[in-house]
Amino acid sequence: MASVRITFLGTGAGACIHRAHTAIVLDCPDGTRLLLDASSGNSLLRNGAEAGMQAKDFHHVLISHNHADHIAGLNHLELVRGRAAPDAPALALHGTEESLEGVKRLCQATDRSLKIDQDGATNRFGRQAFQWLPADEGQRVELGATTHAVSAPVDHIGGAVCWRIESDGVAVVFSGDTRFSPNLVEAARGARLLIHEALTTESDRDLTYEVGHSTAADAGRAAALAGVEELVLTHISTLYHFDPQPLLDEAREHFQGPITVASDLYQLSVGTP
Ligand SMILES: [Zn+2]
Ligand SMILES: [Zn+2]
Repeated sequence: MASVRITFLGTGAGACIHRAHTAIVLDCPDGTRLLLDASSGNSLLRNGAEAGMQAKDFHHVLISHNHADHIAGLNHLELVRGRAAPDAPALALHGTEESLEGVKRLCQATDRSLKIDQDGATNRFGRQAFQWLPADEGQRVELGATTHAVSAPVDHIGGAVCWRIESDGVAVVFSGDTRFSPNLVEAARGARLLIHEALTTESDRDLTYEVGHSTAADAGRAAALAGVEELVLTHISTLYHFDPQPLLDEAREHFQGPITVASDLYQLSVGTP
């Protein structure tokens, strides 16, 4: 049975103070390891170490959008990765042109020694640190022998996408940050697992929509409409850190399959029957 192992290294929303910012690892049946977003600061590395993952183990990053809570850990990841594996190829950053522009601005602001050109960023030792791999929405991105990914635009900020990753017949979809998105529903059609953000419940719906996010009800509706088998909620507000039950209850009103609220270091495996 082929299965994808998923490890949540960060499950908090931007303003959450109890959880690391978004970073999710997919270990695919063909040995490909993918990082979905890169958290902020050194959270990815700290939680990665807890999960037995080192910086040198990461080669591909799929970026959902360029808000700091999703990309600001890239420089720290590259710093440690470059020391641990100086001969490793550049970290491959996959995202929309707009998302990658945000990463370039981040690089310029945080490490003036990085030289940025159209292909990537080179560090002070002359080593290519990052490789820009712009992916148009809908473009198939080959990542491993039997692993590929496709993005679709979602409703958050310019350039924001969800990602559908398929490996050996197992499909996992990550919403990134978004309001309820028909494009996400299409992208998630028939997936084994949908990882969907859920900032709040319907009681805070107006504010949630104002800042470009989903309620747990939206995540449940998306899962039901897409016909996925399982739903994991992430990008959790401080309000629901200690008691995520209201998120679960609300999503369950719409989706009948298994639902979990992820926490940092939560792991699950999903596979073909
Ligand atoms: Zn976010
Ligand atoms: Zn965002």
